[in-house]
Parts: sequence; C-alpha cells; structure tokens
Amino acid sequence: MKFMLSCQEATRLSSDRLDTPLTPAQRWPLALHLFICRHCRRFDRDLRRLHQCVRNADGGQVFISLPPQRKAAILQRLEQEAQA
Ligand SMILES: [Zn+2]
Repeated sequence: MKFMLSCQEATRLSSDRLDTPLTPAQRWPLALHLFICRHCRRFDRDLRRLHQCVRNADGGQVFISLPPQRKAAILQRLEQEAQA
C-alpha cells in the first residue's frame, strides 16, 4: 500500500474498515489522508454515523439520536402542522 492515498482509495478504506479491521499498512495511510483531506474526513464521519444508525435498526425502525433542542424544534413544528 502506498503512503499517500487518493480520495477514491481513502473512501474505499473508510468503508472497508466498518466491516473488517484494517492492517497497519492500510490504517496509517488512511489516518494521514483523513488528517489532510477534509472531504474524506467528512465522508468518513458521515459513513460511520450511517453505519451506526443501521446497526441500531430494530424491527425496521432506525433510531437516530438528536440533541434536545433539535427534538423540541421538530415537536414544535409537528404541533404547528397539526393545528393548521
Ligand atoms: Zn480525500
């Protein structure tokens, strides 16, 4: 594995590591790429969140944890829609 990854290689490794642990020869170049590339860092973060949601899925429902302020805003909006 080469030391500097392309974004395509980095995103593939980000996805692969959700299923199987990476070797050190894969892990270090990925860590370096994620350190210097904000696009792949964002992709990696979002992919891990999505993976966590799928892992938490139970009976077809997906549980996503939201901050309390966001929950209150959604609830308020639903109540407004119900009264309209
Ligand atoms: Zn990248």
